[in-house]
Amino acid sequence: MTTRPAGLPDHIQHYIDGQRVDSIDGDRFDVLEPVGNEVYTTAARGKAADVDAAVAAATRAFETGPWPSMKPRQRARILNRIADIVESRDAELAAFESFDSGLPITQAKGQAQRAAENFRFFADLIVAQRDDTYKVPGSQMNYVNRKPKGVAGLITPWNTPFMLESWKLAPALASGCTVVLKPAEFTPLSASLWAGIFEEAELPQGVFNLVNGIGEEAGDALVKHPGVPLISFTGESRTGQLIFANCAPHLKAMSMELGGKSPAVVFADADLDAAIDSTLFGVFSLNGERCTAGSRILVERPIYEEFLERYAARAERIVVGDPSDPATEVGALVHPEHFDKVMSYVEIGKQEGRLLAGGGRPEAFPEGNFVAPTVFADVAPDARIFQEEIFGPVVAITPFDTDEEALELANGVRYGLAAYIWTSDLVRAHTFAQSVEAGMVWLNSHNVRDLRSPFGGVKASGLGHEGGYRSLDFYSDQQAVHITL
Ligand code: NAD
Repeated sequence: MTTRPAGLPDHIQHYIDGQRVDSIDGDRFDVLEPVGNEVYTTAARGKAADVDAAVAAATRAFETGPWPSMKPRQRARILNRIADIVESRDAELAAFESFDSGLPITQAKGQAQRAAENFRFFADLIVAQRDDTYKVPGSQMNYVNRKPKGVAGLITPWNTPFMLESWKLAPALASGCTVVLKPAEFTPLSASLWAGIFEEAELPQGVFNLVNGIGEEAGDALVKHPGVPLISFTGESRTGQLIFANCAPHLKAMSMELGGKSPAVVFADADLDAAIDSTLFGVFSLNGERCTAGSRILVERPIYEEFLERYAARAERIVVGDPSDPATEVGALVHPEHFDKVMSYVEIGKQEGRLLAGGGRPEAFPEGNFVAPTVFADVAPDARIFQEEIFGPVVAITPFDTDEEALELANGVRYGLAAYIWTSDLVRAHTFAQSVEAGMVWLNSHNVRDLRSPFGGVKASGLGHEGGYRSLDFYSDQQAVHITL
């Protein structure tokens, strides 16, 4: 049994036009906690009719409400109020997030701060925003007229759900769009807090709408809704492909943050202590359920055996436990379906690599979605555990002999989200960074974000880059107005 946070709802409703409502057909789905896999609440199961109601409310708020035409400073004040309220709820949010998703409580703490920072950041940007004006001497002047695009459809995954929702909500609202959010069905709990937060911050009615439900039902209806001109999606690449196809008939704007199988490349001249610390963090923090996880480690041959020995010994010592226990470093995976998927890869890995640590359910946890941190060595580049996103605490380690081979291995997958490079040779670091097929590269450093810099992947890891003004551009139309002088 895990600790049940205070204030868990008996049932989670949609939030449409400022009202908490159930589905029109009354349907609901069960929500499990990941330690005992017990149903702890139900959530309204939205369908096309519920999405229609939410889009109608968001459209009304866009067409007749004050939000899209408010001065940036006025909108920013509300966004900053949202940030203050979110931050003040850090403890409550962390307890909810950890209970619902299985994240270790120490790692769930701080998610509210990150979410609040997203709102503050975009509040600052809209106040400081400049748009271009061009003068053609003697003939004409052109200026950019920036306008919010309309009702934004936001579809989010279950890993760090609240923070990832904020990464879409903040720039969409800052831009003046109104929104319909469809959070992940595995983790609807923390998303249910948004309605109260936005009410307290006095966001105008109808600007924020939330429809819970299954991806193939509520998510699909949102994607196909003709009243929603843009879809911002974070989730699996496979789902992204389907959404891409479903957006095509409407020519919708799309921002897609998809899966990854990111390499961490450790050269023999690296600071090995730092590289080991970071590559452990890279795949075992957040239960390995991290899009930018460094889930393939490529190690230069002269240090390969030493790296394996030290890495596996550290992985064995990682504390797997109840997510609510502050000593826990790896908690429970989000859902039994996902647990089965990760465990199936662990079994595949036993055929494909040399098992150095973990390899299944830890003995102390006969129930719940617990997987011991698992390390496979000598993994060939055509192995499934090298190629496919596992999204759990499982890492594949492969040796290399030359820089060229390292690059070929790093780029030899369909994904291209992140890459981590460990070397003390500055020229090699930058040469490698510029050749590696990844949207984001960290040189001798952890996965830390600067909200101004581009965020997104290449190849199967995404479409479009957000971050800084790029996010505001996605949610805005930039109209060119020409004047004859
Ligand atoms: P998922 O694709 O299964 O689901 C994501 C969301 O899409 C959920 O809300 C789901 O209900 C919805 N959905 C599913 N099918 C749909 C459909 N046909 N139409 C519309 N909506 C649909 O992903 P997940 O398992 O929740 O999340 C894990 C994945 O997300 C991993 O692949 C991970 O790498 C990726 N991810 C990427 C980033 C990034 O920034 N690149 C960040 C976090 C997670």
